[in-house]
Amino acid sequence: MRETSYSPHQRLYMEEALFEADQAALIGEVPIGAVIVHDGQIVGRGHNLREHGNDATLHAEVRAIEEACATLKSWRLNDCQLYVTIEPCLMCSGAIVNARIPEVFYGARDPKAGAVDSLYQTLTDDRLNHVVTVHEGLLAKSAGERMVTFFRAARKRQKAAKKARRAAQTPEN
Ligand SMILES: [Zn+2]
Repeated sequence: MRETSYSPHQRLYMEEALFEADQAALIGEVPIGAVIVHDGQIVGRGHNLREHGNDATLHAEVRAIEEACATLKSWRLNDCQLYVTIEPCLMCSGAIVNARIPEVFYGARDPKAGAVDSLYQTLTDDRLNHVVTVHEGLLAKSAGERMVTFFRAARKRQKAAKKARRAAQTPEN
């Protein structure tokens, strides 16, 4: 299911997910954020922490799911909605299915790793025992811009570091 208009509440939750993405960017992590909502309350939130945690599984969605499960004292999040700034990957889509989350809102697509629409359609694959209602595009521009800015700065830093290394190798006369 795809919708193009969203309620003010839905926009607010995605803004919270964008806030999480900014927390990641502030410490040099890929800016992706997520929140989980239950009965109108945010019960779990997270941002990417892969570098700081030295852990490949520390994606925003996984962290938000862990927190929501702890808050609700249940592995089943079947009355919850997940909001995430970027299309979930294979791992996170798997976690969403396993947590039985019925509804997911994501901002921008991830053409290289997205497993909801881009590369795979895991959340809407009816061979699985749990099918998710997916809403794509909520505040997508804000989510995408954060990624573009982040990777542009990362490339710039890499270029500067390379230049500095080369300069250090050149003997002075
Ligand atoms: Zn992921």
